[in-house]
Amino acid sequence: MALRTILTAPDPRLKKKAAAVASVDAEVRQLMDDMLETMYAAPGIGLAAPQVGELKRVVVLDIDREDVKTGPLCMANPEVIDASDEDVTYEEGCLSVPEHYSDVARPAKVTVRYLDRGGETQELTCEGLLATCVQHEIDHLDGILFIDHISSLKRNMILRKLLKARKEKERDEAEGKPATKLKMTAKEEAAEA
Ligand SMILES: [Zn+2]
Repeated sequence: MALRTILTAPDPRLKKKAAAVASVDAEVRQLMDDMLETMYAAPGIGLAAPQVGELKRVVVLDIDREDVKTGPLCMANPEVIDASDEDVTYEEGCLSVPEHYSDVARPAKVTVRYLDRGGETQELTCEGLLATCVQHEIDHLDGILFIDHISSLKRNMILRKLLKARKEKERDEAEGKPATKLKMTAKEEAAEA
C-alpha cells in the first residue's frame, strides 16, 4: 500500500468527471487499498479517487461513530438508485477543502449500487452520516465539491482563502522555512471526507 497525495481546491482535476472502471481488477484493488490508507492517515471518513488525481469512479469510506460503524467500504462505479424525499442537513468538510465547513442539505436516505472490492454487485441503503458521506463522495466523481452546494459568495471566499494559504506555504517553502503547523480549531473533530 502507498500513501497518495490529496489534491486541494482549487485544482482543475477536482472539477473533472471520472470514468467508470471496466472491472475491479488488481489495479483498481490497489487503488482502493492506497485510498483507504491515505484516508485513515489524513484522517478522514471518505475519499474519492479524483482527490488523489485518479479520474476513476472509485470511492472508499469508513465511518466509526457511536450510531454508525461501517468498517472499510470500497465502492467502484457507485450510483444512487433510490433517494428519500426528505432531506437532512449536515455540516460537511472535505479533505480537498481543508479547514472549511458548511451546512449542506441532501436526501436523508439513499440506496447505492456498486461493485465491491471483490467485483461483486452490492446494494446498500444508507442513512444518517453514511448517506451524506456516500453522496459527498459520489459528487466528487462528477467533479462536484460540497462548496458547489453553497452560495457562490461563501464558495468564492473559501477558494480565495485556500489560494492565499497555498501561496503562503509555497513562499515559506521557497524561503526554506519549516512548514507552519496547521492551526487546530474547534472543528478538529469534525468529519472530513
Ligand atoms: Zn470531499
